[in-house]
Amino acid sequence: MSIQQEVNLKNKLKEVFGYNQFRGNQELIINNIINGKNTFVIMPTGAGKSLCYQLPALSLPGTAIVISPLIALMKNQVDQLNAFGVNAHFLNSTLSKAETNKVKKETLAGEVKLLYVAPESLTKEETVEFLRASNISFVAIDEAHCISEWGHDFRPEYRRIRGIIDQIGDLPIIALTATATPKVQLDIQRNLQMDEASVFKSSFNRTNLYYEVRPKHKTKKQLIQYVKKHKGKSGIVYCLSRKKVEEIAELLRVNDIKALPYHAGLDASIRMANQDAFLNEECDVIVATIAFGMGIDKPDVRFVAHYDTPKSIEGYYQETGRAGRDGLEGNCIMFYSYDDIIKLEKFNKDKPVTERDNSKLLLQEMAAYADSAVCRRKQLLHYFGETFEKDCGFCDNCLHPKERFEAQKEVQLALKAVQLTGERFGIDHITHVLTGLRNQYVTSYDHDKLEVFAAGKEQDAQFWSSVLRQILLSEFLEKDIDSFGVIKLTQKGEDFIKNPQPIQLTKDHNYDQEVKEDEEK
Ligand code: ADP
Ligand code: ZN
Repeated sequence: MSIQQEVNLKNKLKEVFGYNQFRGNQELIINNIINGKNTFVIMPTGAGKSLCYQLPALSLPGTAIVISPLIALMKNQVDQLNAFGVNAHFLNSTLSKAETNKVKKETLAGEVKLLYVAPESLTKEETVEFLRASNISFVAIDEAHCISEWGHDFRPEYRRIRGIIDQIGDLPIIALTATATPKVQLDIQRNLQMDEASVFKSSFNRTNLYYEVRPKHKTKKQLIQYVKKHKGKSGIVYCLSRKKVEEIAELLRVNDIKALPYHAGLDASIRMANQDAFLNEECDVIVATIAFGMGIDKPDVRFVAHYDTPKSIEGYYQETGRAGRDGLEGNCIMFYSYDDIIKLEKFNKDKPVTERDNSKLLLQEMAAYADSAVCRRKQLLHYFGETFEKDCGFCDNCLHPKERFEAQKEVQLALKAVQLTGERFGIDHITHVLTGLRNQYVTSYDHDKLEVFAAGKEQDAQFWSSVLRQILLSEFLEKDIDSFGVIKLTQKGEDFIKNPQPIQLTKDHNYDQEVKEDEEK
């Protein structure tokens, strides 16, 4: 990059956006796309992804296309850019014919710097033709994880994007996401045919967020106490259903807390008014379904509570990520019960088989996270493909550690079970083999004839599942990148089987038991 180019970018950053400095990888990313290279950005929510395509769009001749899945999010960004004096527009189903024509005309005249397009609009023949006639600088694909069936927010139209870009022209692509596990990341790159892209992955560690999981027991009482402890501060309470949202908002209100509901069943005008009240601090707490928060930029949210257990770790991480964006305190609490997991599984029963299986795996990961007594941050970061060596000292499990036990024999046995079943199965299957469950899969693979079959029957399935997950965290095992849910041995794992060493593991929480004991008191 020339010094002149560097100065120009800095000037624009200041003049247009009012910022003095780039954050993290922003400058490297921006230069990469300005130089016409395919770019893949993985950054946690709130880290500043938008600027990575907005600034290059201003620096390059022509119009940048931004593909974004959410109409509300598009509108927010376009409004914000217009307020900065940037000519930006969107094309989606909310525009009238006349409005659409006006946007197209301005774009063809070369006046528009950023054009946000919904994937449904992009796949229309007339849109493709219009874009082919325009001078396009590059294509940004926001929320790129929507491409992957393995993610938590799959959108089939997203898989058609690559083909359409090819019809428009030979254009550099920048794909951005806040939620790429290694598996999803690979899927995105393959689908967009950007194996050679420069990948910029920032750490997902949000050091200022405190993570805590509590059993779902007398939850209303717990929630009221919790919110009162943060009295006068901004917070979000997530619930699974609209009905629950209404109920909890009301509950908080009668307890003298300024709370408002937000969900897709409310009138658009009420939704907007409640959101504004939250942003303007006329209300402290917004009780919402996951419909709330995408693109909402309130830096001083001090707590995020999950009243119901979330559907996936990706979703949980993104929602908790709305706390403490300013880098100051952020408290994240989740109420967990296995009943919620079962309920969520039932919601999926009408979905196509693969989708149902994927959702089930995501739910199991969620349940395992909640039950685990291992450092929460370690688990979250591992889930997103990062190694975090030490325990963080700033989560419930670190502050209230459970007793550890010597597990050399158990670890060796679990590893052997993975090895002898051929490294082609997931945690559930290995657990079935170890506990001696003679189900259809176990017998059809003759795994009931293995020496490891029922070798761990003194312990239950939760125990073995927890052992397997902990040794996955310590990299004795790894997830197979090509088959979802399958675990394999690492070199470290193979060495351990031959030459076992003392090793300490933690027993899972048993929240149901804790609740029972509490009730007996
Ligand atoms: P993401 O899309 O990654 O969730 P955003 O693009 O919405 O994040 O940015 C989050 C916040 O950070 C926004 O308020 C944005 O204006 C701000 N921001 C982005 N880049 C910078 C920067 N270089 N300096 C200061 N603030 C920034
Ligand atoms: Zn921790």
